[in-house]
Amino acid sequence: MAINAKKIRRVRQERDRVDIVIGHAARVVLQEPRMRKRVAIVGSGPTALFALQTLITCSQSLNIVIFESAEVAGKGTPYQRGINAPTMLSNIPSIEIPSLPTTLVEWLSSQSNGYLTEAGIPREEISDRAFYPRVVIGDYFRAQFDELIVRGTAARHAIEVRENCTVSDVIPVGPAFDIEIEGGAPRESFDYVIVATGHSFAQHPETSPGYFDAPWPATALETISSGKIGILGTSLSAIDAVVTLAASFGRFNRKGDGNLVYTGQGTDNRLHITMMSRKGLLPEADFYFPIPYEQPKICTAAVVEERIILGSSGLLDDVFDLFKAELAMADPDYAERIKLDELTADTFAAAYYGVRDRREPFEWAATNLTEAKRNYASKHTVAWRYAILITHEIIESAVSYFTADDLARFNRSFKGVFADDYATVPHLSIERLLALHRAGYLEIVALGDRADVSAEGLDRGARVTCEFGAMVFDTFIDATGQKVLSADDLPFAALKDAGLISPALTVTPRGGRLRTGGISVDDQCRPLVAGVRPVRRLYTPAVSYLLHKRPFVQGITSAAELGETVASSIIADLARPLRSRKARRSRQKQDPAPAAAKEFT
Ligand SMILES: Cc1cc2nc3c(=O)[nH]c(=O)nc-3n(C[C@H](O)[C@H](O)[C@H](O)COP(=O)(O)OP(=O)(O)OC[C@H]3O[C@@H](n4cnc5c(N)ncnc54)[C@H](O)[C@@H]3O)c2cc1C
Repeated sequence: MAINAKKIRRVRQERDRVDIVIGHAARVVLQEPRMRKRVAIVGSGPTALFALQTLITCSQSLNIVIFESAEVAGKGTPYQRGINAPTMLSNIPSIEIPSLPTTLVEWLSSQSNGYLTEAGIPREEISDRAFYPRVVIGDYFRAQFDELIVRGTAARHAIEVRENCTVSDVIPVGPAFDIEIEGGAPRESFDYVIVATGHSFAQHPETSPGYFDAPWPATALETISSGKIGILGTSLSAIDAVVTLAASFGRFNRKGDGNLVYTGQGTDNRLHITMMSRKGLLPEADFYFPIPYEQPKICTAAVVEERIILGSSGLLDDVFDLFKAELAMADPDYAERIKLDELTADTFAAAYYGVRDRREPFEWAATNLTEAKRNYASKHTVAWRYAILITHEIIESAVSYFTADDLARFNRSFKGVFADDYATVPHLSIERLLALHRAGYLEIVALGDRADVSAEGLDRGARVTCEFGAMVFDTFIDATGQKVLSADDLPFAALKDAGLISPALTVTPRGGRLRTGGISVDDQCRPLVAGVRPVRRLYTPAVSYLLHKRPFVQGITSAAELGETVASSIIADLARPLRSRKARRSRQKQDPAPAAAKEFT
């Protein structure tokens, strides 16, 4: 990146020491520490990691402070030891993790035999398509975090990491922000703040005896005694809970014939786990597909973008037509089998689940696993599955433009198809569920469209009532995953009091506005004041608050995209010529926006 000569002269005139060095990624303008722009990153999970990787390419030297409430920074919620059990698997292989200093495979290969043995990873089985325990991914992220700090420091940025340090508020002060931390340390001022607080779960999930609001931290599940255990959910989080419980009460062993078996330990055989969901279906096994993604031919990002520009009315149906055309072209046999040309955005899901819906879930899971393994061995891609996969983020780009009615239609069933297709699970996870079922410890129940969960009148656990009857559990675990949080849930009161955080709204067909959860942000993740004007220098790439309009934002690839987006936005803001900032300020003077909000936009 070239250095702007005029800018250097100007900085010299300001009598700052100016130096130019060749850093890792760019030439860097060195400034006295007091002149450096200060960037606070709240949270140090994958979003922060990828933000840091981009921030250190900034040509101005920065003062970056990373606040992390956990004991160990650089890992993130799903990858921390303690919160997660070593048996919990990630569903992202090395090849899909966006670029970091070292790939996961390279990093694993450089680990000691002792580390690999403890993690249960045979050295000869390290591969870019394999799945590893989430705590191992956490160790990998931490190593990348350390390396980025080394690189950032070499590029003359000052980077400070504060572990065990929970940010309790972000307070707007003039054009900057004060960070307040728990424990009463003096506030510190920052020019830019990235709120990368990610997932949000209660520290103590057991809200009444035997009733768990969430399956995290895993250590909480380890206290459960055997008996009848009900788990709401059948996808990734629910599988996590099942596997954690299974590890507490027995062992999985691979037999000579390759089959996995589960054996309960001790004399207490009362353990019985029931997984429950609306359809009572298990997720499918991870399927083979080319990486990086191939580009769709019809339902392309550009075509969907052009359609978005034409307005919200009829958008869901038009996007569905593009999706349908893509699917039909990719896999004509599948299209004919499910009678695709007769389907709409409202009826597609029923056809998609079709056969699977009518089969016994474990029988289906076994068949699907065999097929997935065969396809992996022959590197065969099922075309319709891949077409859905490569269009999911393109479809997502239209979601925030849907009318309230279309959003409700999308959420009712069409959304679930994409989640089902991309959130496939490691083969080992399916094998574990099958082994538990064969041993008589696990069943799945379809609840239908209406179910009620209540702990009323019970000493412990919960009663689940659905149209097919009622079940009482000694222990109940809600494992339906991260809930969509709204502006009211944001723990930073001063931002809300200053009117900088607004609830996300969706336009109704009559022009009204409906709250749909989440907070309103622009495409750079800056909160929108009154849903319209972005707050400068504040970024909120926190997944729990974005899910309402970005339903597929949950994976590591999304965290990378969010982190890179906000960091690039900061770099672009720093590079803005002074003139444009002045012009903006003079425009603001004439603007009748509320005083507090105006100062930050
Ligand atoms: C159980 C689970 C399993 C998952 N498995 C996968 C998977 O296998 N593959 C995949 O691709 N994606 C997976 N995901 C998706 C996951 O969203 C991303 O992988 C990623 O964790 C998002 O990163 P993040 O940094 O935004 O949030 P987080 O990972 O949640 O990180 C946020 C960090 O901020 C810290 N923090 C929060 N509040 C404060 C505060 N006030 N002050 C200081 N620090 C704070 C937290 O301690 C945490 O370390 C999973 C998600 C969950 C919940």
